[in-house]
Order: sequence, then C-alpha cells, then structure tokens
Amino acid sequence: MPTEWGGAGLSLTEFAHLSEELGRSPLGHYVFNVQAPDVGNMELLLSHGTDEQRDRWLRPLVRGDIRSCFTMTEPEFAGSNPVWMGTTAVKDGGSWVIRGHKWFSTAADGAAFAVCMAVTNPESKNAHRRASMIIVPTDTPGFELVGNISVMGHRGADHQSHGEVMYHGARVPLSNLIGEEGAGFELAQARLGAGRVHHCMRWIGICERAFDILCRHAATRQLAPGDLLGSRQLVQQWVAESRGEIDGARLMVLHAAWTIERKGTSEARDEISIIKFTVARTVQRVLDRAIQALGALGLTDETPLAFWWTHERGGRIYDGADEVHITSVAKRILRRYGGEQ
Ligand SMILES: Cc1cc2nc3c(=O)[nH]c(=O)nc-3n(C[C@H](O)[C@H](O)[C@H](O)COP(=O)(O)OP(=O)(O)OC[C@H]3O[C@@H](n4cnc5c(N)ncnc54)[C@H](O)[C@@H]3O)c2cc1C
Repeated sequence: MPTEWGGAGLSLTEFAHLSEELGRSPLGHYVFNVQAPDVGNMELLLSHGTDEQRDRWLRPLVRGDIRSCFTMTEPEFAGSNPVWMGTTAVKDGGSWVIRGHKWFSTAADGAAFAVCMAVTNPESKNAHRRASMIIVPTDTPGFELVGNISVMGHRGADHQSHGEVMYHGARVPLSNLIGEEGAGFELAQARLGAGRVHHCMRWIGICERAFDILCRHAATRQLAPGDLLGSRQLVQQWVAESRGEIDGARLMVLHAAWTIERKGTSEARDEISIIKFTVARTVQRVLDRAIQALGALGLTDETPLAFWWTHERGGRIYDGADEVHITSVAKRILRRYGGEQ
C-alpha cells in the first residue's frame, strides 16, 4: 500500500523480497497484515474502489481493524473455469440482490465484508464480461456463513478458515459494485496476478527455512560416531538440488514481479502462470527432502516442516490448479508458433 494509505509504499518487486522474509514464519504475513485474501482485497480496492468504498473498507483493512474475504468458488461449478458460476446479482431499485452458494472463502469467519463474484450480465455474448465484483458486508441480512470446511493443515485459526457461504437474496446498494459492471473476471485476474507473486515468494521463504533445517541436520547428525549424514552423496544431492531450485525460483518470481510492474498483469500472463506451477512444486520438493533427511523428527511438530507439508499442498490447487496454468501457458506458446490451439 502507498504510504498515504498507511502502507510501506513498496513496489511489487520490493514487497516480493519482504514476502520471502515473512514466509519463513507461518505467522509472518498475518502479523504484518499482508496475508491472503486481505492483501488482494486491499490491492483491488486501492486500484478499482470508489472513494467511498476505500474510506469505508480499505482504510480499516490497512489499519488491521477488520478482515475480509473473497467469495468466488462454488461447490456446484468447477472453480477452474472462472467464467462459470451460479451466483447471480440482480438490480432491484437501488440495490443488488445476490443469491448463490460459495465455498472455500478463506477467512470468511470473522471477516467484516466479502467481495462477491456474481453474474450480473448473463446475456453478454462475451463469457468474460458476465460477472461483477460486489462488496457485501457480512452483517447483511441474507449473508450466511454456513460453517468452516476442515482443510488439511489449515485447522485452528479464523484467518486460515475456509468458509461455506450462502447468499439468500442479500441486498446491498448498487454503489457496492467494484469497477465496471461485467469487469469481474478482469479484476479477478489482476487481483490474482500480484497475489501469485506474494504466494510464490512466501513459498521461497518456506524453502529457505526448510533448507536451513535440512543442512543443519545433515551437517550435525551422526549415523555412526564421526560419520555425518551429510557425507552421503544422496543427501548432498538434496542439498545441491534444493539450493539450485530455490535460487532459480526466486529469480523467476522476481522477473514475473518486474514484468507485472513494467507491462501490467495481462502482459505477464505467461510469467505469472509459470511461477505459480513451478514454485508450488519447488516448495513441496524441498520440504520433502528436508523431512526425509530428518527421519522421524521431520514428521513431528518440533519443526515447522510437517505443518508446511500439509498446509502448502493447497498451493497446487488454489489460485489456479497446476494443470490449468500449464495448459494455458503451453497453448499461448504454441500459438506463437502457429499452432491451432
Ligand atoms: C486452501 C484453499 C484456499 C482457497 N481460498 C479461496 C478463496 O478465498 N476464495 C475462493 O473463491 N476460492 C478459494 N479457493 C478455491 C480455489 O480457488 C479452487 O479450489 C480452485 O480454483 C480449483 O477449483 P475446484 O476446487 O472447483 O476444482 P475443479 O475446477 O473441479 O478442478 C479439479 C481438478 O481438475 C483438474 N483440472 C481442472 N481444470 C483443468 C484443465 N483445464 N485441464 C486439466 N486439468 C484440469 C485440476 O487437477 C484440478 O485440481 C481455495 C482453495 C483452497 C484449497
């Protein structure tokens, strides 16, 4: 956030470095109020909110006085297809009336408002112009948090809960629309572009911490008197490959952040997709090697490895499953070679 909004005024590339440091602690992003989904909603409101929306919602969000959530994914529709959803928002006098069913709304429990993705223009021939984003205060009659879904590695904290939400004709003023009517898909892409950089740099912070744990253990654990675990070539391979993969991943993410800053999210689509599926896998590989090197200790809660192993598995699914990013990058590349994709 810019300093006039109470932020540190960092560019995306500068924030990426900070995000890596914060990622070394499971609490880092939360303590500094830069956790998903709040940070994405802050960026969204800053760039596309009206003055009134920013005063009412952005200011307290930046101060950390309130939390927020983002409700897009629905149980009945494939979340991987972001233009296909059942939730609708219909104009009625001066209001939007919203009906629909959402789930995996991170941090809905305790959120002061939700950003709701709903179809407002079903008749549009362009499937990418049918949905809009609308702010719904969670105390609006008709907004129901049905409950929290139990997700592997994510139990125990409201800010990491994943809510099932019903909109039973929730009525909010027309002025709660963010950006233009029908711009929901475009705004979601812009919101997620920077968000993927945040996640990836957080994963690199996790990789660095796991790497420290792996190396410290390999350098000190004795298999027999004077016989160090790190003397085994198999373990040396884990160390060297992890080092190379983490360094490569960091440069790739910083390049993506730099491309977003210079050219905008839509011109950085390949870079964003590539870092998303690459780094989500890098963190799994590095964690796996560290856990293996620690033996049974790696499975305990004496280190953060076991927590991250389950907590970060979701990274290959949320913000676009690996397969979606892989196929969309490949299609765009092949199109440049004249392929009919
Ligand atoms: C921890 C976590 C937090 C989340 N937070 C939020 C949130 O705050 N707000 C929100 O709205 N949503 C959130 N989500 C939901 C997330 O965005 C969706 O789970 C994701 O978009 C995938 O949608 P889906 O689960 O419906 O899977 P589906 O779309 O049903 O896909 C299932 C699987 O099919 C495969 N697949 C899908 N499409 C293709 C394709 N084109 N080619 C090949 N294979 C394919 C992939 O392997 C995918 O994993 C969260 C999810 C998790 C796990």
